[in-house]
Amino acid sequence: MENRKYVDCREQDAGKSGCSLRISGNEKEVTDAAFLHAVSVYGFPDTDETRFQITNSLKDDSENAPFSTPSKATIFDEKNIAH
Ligand SMILES: [Zn+2]
Repeated sequence: MENRKYVDCREQDAGKSGCSLRISGNEKEVTDAAFLHAVSVYGFPDTDETRFQITNSLKDDSENAPFSTPSKATIFDEKNIAH
């Protein structure tokens, strides 16, 4: 099974750019897309060095990672039930 990777602009520059793009897919897909994004949006040089840096910044995107589910706060508190 192929490991999915991701890059998230919000993690790259601490949100300074205001860009919230998140790219996920296999390593090549993410690298290609992130490279184009970095060059066209952030003005990175169109070089292998930029691509290399992007490849190094990819993070594992586990599809099994649990989403932050809202806690099922219980509305009913037994003490509040009128008898
Ligand atoms: Zn971005």
